[in-house]
Amino acid sequence: MRALTIDAHGGLDRLRFRDDLPIPALASDADVRVRVHAAALNHLDLFVIDGVPGVRIAPGWILGSDCAGVVDAIGSAVTNVRVGDHVVLNPGVSDRTCEYCHSGDNPLCLKYSILGEHRPGVLADYVVVPAANAHTIPPTVSFSTAAAFPLATLTAWRMVVSRARVTSNDQVLIRGIGGGVALAALQIAKSIGARVWVTSGSDAKLDRARLLGADETINHATTDVAKEVRGRTGKRGVDVVIDCVGEATWASSLGSLGKRGRVVTCGGTSGPRLETDVRKLFWNQWTIMGSTMGSDTEFSAIVDELRVGRLCPPVDSEYPLEHGRRAFERLAAGEQFGKVVVTVAD
Ligand SMILES: [Zn+2]
Repeated sequence: MRALTIDAHGGLDRLRFRDDLPIPALASDADVRVRVHAAALNHLDLFVIDGVPGVRIAPGWILGSDCAGVVDAIGSAVTNVRVGDHVVLNPGVSDRTCEYCHSGDNPLCLKYSILGEHRPGVLADYVVVPAANAHTIPPTVSFSTAAAFPLATLTAWRMVVSRARVTSNDQVLIRGIGGGVALAALQIAKSIGARVWVTSGSDAKLDRARLLGADETINHATTDVAKEVRGRTGKRGVDVVIDCVGEATWASSLGSLGKRGRVVTCGGTSGPRLETDVRKLFWNQWTIMGSTMGSDTEFSAIVDELRVGRLCPPVDSEYPLEHGRRAFERLAAGEQFGKVVVTVAD
């Protein structure tokens, strides 16, 4: 079968298109094999190519976390999907037996793994996963749209709905609009009825975010974000900040935050070391929250939104699997607005 792989860590020159890999077999009677029709890239894929501390890969490592396709084979114990079903995959695999899984916190599972990072990925003709990770979608949802959906929307849903508990009374500031998580957070916060602010260094991205419902936009390349938020809110500040950018944005994110504010982060694409003035933290009674991926229940909730078309991820561009390197170059350049999709089957 064909796949986009790496044999060792490094830059994008490590990417290797293969067409000589064996089609994977079911590993247990609770597994399904999916014929991948479309996959989508995440910043996580760049981290995997670069090398994630503590995570070891085997040569011929298949990249990719997000995909949609058609069920090709099922184990004897599988009841939730049938061969021929269109499915989207939850990229997070948990044992569903530990204390964290039982309490609905699958991403805290002691054996949590992510497709493409800890398990073979989805940038391939076929992938084998536990059946519980496969969720059916109607044929009316395109494979590209479905592939662009899982990881970013799941991450954003947990951040906005479960962690920050955003309501229609909240003002929400989202940093770095254009990335998958930020765009999903915008759509989710708007669907709740919140007032949403977005920042970007690109006026073109801010214009497109307005079309998706953003109420307030700030170009962080030309404007002091915290000062601007304070100015436009009569010094009050916002209630919630969604910040996955990290070092480059943290100070101005906290500077934009009002009393009782909540900040949720799922990563730091610009760098991991953040500085927080504890005096402002306690005086304003802020809450700083970490979040990653999402639970089985949260994944079911977002797939329900996808099925009825309430959440629909913007697709930036599409590349065929054999030109997957160009897709990665597009992501690495940071110029995308929405997801970079890789088409695998016709
Ligand atoms: Zn578990």
